[in-house]
Amino acid sequence: MYPFDYTRVSDTEEALAAGRRGGRYIAGGTTLVDLMRETVERPQTVVDISGLPLDEVTATERGGLRIGALVTMTEAAAHPKVRTLFPVVSQALELSASAQLRNMATIGGNIMQRTRCTYFRDVTAACNKRDPGSGCAAREGYNRPHAILGTSEACVATHPSDVAVAFAALEAQVHVLGADGQRQIPFADFLLRPGSTPNREQALRNGELITAVEIPALPRPLASGYLKVRDRQSYEFALTSAAVALHVRGGVIRDAKVAAGGVGTVPWKLPAVEQHLVGERPSASLWAAAAAKAADGARPLRHNRFKTDLLKRTVERQLRIVGGTK
Ligand code: SF4
Repeated sequence: MYPFDYTRVSDTEEALAAGRRGGRYIAGGTTLVDLMRETVERPQTVVDISGLPLDEVTATERGGLRIGALVTMTEAAAHPKVRTLFPVVSQALELSASAQLRNMATIGGNIMQRTRCTYFRDVTAACNKRDPGSGCAAREGYNRPHAILGTSEACVATHPSDVAVAFAALEAQVHVLGADGQRQIPFADFLLRPGSTPNREQALRNGELITAVEIPALPRPLASGYLKVRDRQSYEFALTSAAVALHVRGGVIRDAKVAAGGVGTVPWKLPAVEQHLVGERPSASLWAAAAAKAADGARPLRHNRFKTDLLKRTVERQLRIVGGTK
């Protein structure tokens, strides 16, 4: 570890002032402290925001849910309204990390977490995300866990969050507070594809603070769930995953929300799959035909060609689990 300043703030104004001066926000610390220990990140000042009043789950007037940025993963997963209204969110959280980490890590921190690409965390390796312009060791190196969708010449790293896949599927909004006041960022615009600047990962402006993630009201009844495929059954990142929410009324699918994880440089929304489902009656053949579109545009690397087929099968299986098979 190296010397750095630590400051604990008690209100959002104080936090924003510290953030504008270049301080890095920290709450659970489950990502940032690791990266600081490995000197992948070297902030001069960390700003402890864990005392801010951003730790509640509230129902919105419109019938959605607002999850405060400082609600822990454990609290969010266990919250009765989250469990009842959006089981896909609870399941994604409970399939993440370990119980100890979920007790510490927050919702805001979770969507801000950085990639698990081993080259990113090895300061001796070339990595455009850590050191812009240095190259990408993963392209010619070991790239089995890496992305097949949304990649660029500069970076092929996956986004590691599970709950971000559920938020992407449900078309959540990220509430942020900054010098210009509050604004909402659609989840689809919040996490950035790497392009030529993989070091820039979120659409946050200088010093902006995440205050909450809001899940919109969706037509009811809504069946939803999250499936995660990985090399071992716990404490492991996804090779592929699928978040699915279906509104079926009168035997017809009226609305479908589907996104995939473990395969994209950002949580990967699947509009072609969704469009194939809407207006149709649930059936095994429908799930298969819709899931066949899940990997459209995929560009596999040397070691992760298996993900193309695994993604389709993951989506098909989760459609069957959530929508039933006739
Ligand atoms: Fe770095 Fe991205 Fe390449 Fe990994 S995939 S080494 S994070 S540039």
